[in-house]
Amino acid sequence: MRTSFMRTLTLAVLAAGFSSHALGQTTHISPWAPTDVVIPPVADLNKGVWLKGDLHLHSRHSKESSNNPISKMIAFCKAVGIDYIAITDHDNHVEGDVAHNTWADPEFKSSDSVLLLYGAEWTTVRGHGNVFSARPYDHQRLYDVRDQRDVVIGAVKKQLDIHLSANHPAGPKDHFGYSYDIVQSMEVWNSAMWSKNANTIMIWDDMLSSGRKMTGRGGSDAHHGVPETPDKATKNSPQAQYNYVGTPTTWVFATSRSTQAIVDALTNGRVSVSANPYAPRVEFYADLNQDGKMDMMMGDNVKSNGQPVKFRVQLSGKTVADSTYTVNVVKNGNPFNTYQMSGKKPVVEFTDTPAEMHRSYYRVTVEGPRTDYPQVPLSASLSGNMVGLSNPIYFNFDPNF
Ligand SMILES: [Zn+2]
Ligand SMILES: [Zn+2]
Repeated sequence: MRTSFMRTLTLAVLAAGFSSHALGQTTHISPWAPTDVVIPPVADLNKGVWLKGDLHLHSRHSKESSNNPISKMIAFCKAVGIDYIAITDHDNHVEGDVAHNTWADPEFKSSDSVLLLYGAEWTTVRGHGNVFSARPYDHQRLYDVRDQRDVVIGAVKKQLDIHLSANHPAGPKDHFGYSYDIVQSMEVWNSAMWSKNANTIMIWDDMLSSGRKMTGRGGSDAHHGVPETPDKATKNSPQAQYNYVGTPTTWVFATSRSTQAIVDALTNGRVSVSANPYAPRVEFYADLNQDGKMDMMMGDNVKSNGQPVKFRVQLSGKTVADSTYTVNVVKNGNPFNTYQMSGKKPVVEFTDTPAEMHRSYYRVTVEGPRTDYPQVPLSASLSGNMVGLSNPIYFNFDPNF
């Protein structure tokens, strides 16, 4: 009966951890307590290209969209310099058959100037999630399990080898009601209206603080294009003036200009989000040995050696002349410090010592003057002073979580 004894023992350990009672004292050692983790080396900081895109868009294949054929979206991307998009139509509008709708549209053509990810908005009664894939996959299978238990959905997602991302996780009518263990990223900035995302940021920090290496990304969730002629206008057409492709813009540091490299960058977290494609890009680095050369960037994870680390936040691209930007640093879910930066290439550095034994993460948000986006003229005022946000820099996160 050894097997059943072992099973009983295992269950007891799972239920209570190891406990010993001696001299009236209890020592409890959690079997889940952090142990020394083995973390692979950080990828090259110089081998890659920054690409900007939008990861949440609806074309005419979503029933409630208007004046938004795929050709119009791609032409718009070319006009404003967007490198990639994910057209994520509602899968429930086609009973899961995305392959014969959005992807079969003759206008759905990836090119070197505008790369198209394969995906859809998994639209269920428990919430919405976007799939991002470099190649076609069997979306029907994910649609079919939408009402099953999370372990079943997680297994199917794994078999399909796709990146799944939680959409508008704190949306009042359609919050994400699944386990975050089935997603690799979440939409921390949905639509041009930045102020609506506060509750989502709370969820993000909770997931990060509990050891989940979770990428934060943006998505405009735009449904409506500018009508070709006034008679084609719908009651939703005004939305095109304040929320369209690129509000916000998600930057990825991809190892090459390819759809697979974009999905990989999303998964590993070398990602930041900016208010629009013309707004400056937030970059966040760390120098581990204080030699003045940066050793890691946002999304990267290393083992802390208990020594001080120098962090650097910088803005790239066109900044607003003679203005000051405010950098808010969050450490382990709590405000850490606030800094100001200005000049042509705004930079700020700060130092802190991540704990040697426990997990730590640092992430930043940058506020400052607005950057106009003439093609979506009312969007900048909705984004307010929010310029952009980084993904975290991680210490001691278990890569096999
Ligand atoms: Zn949605
Ligand atoms: Zn949507």
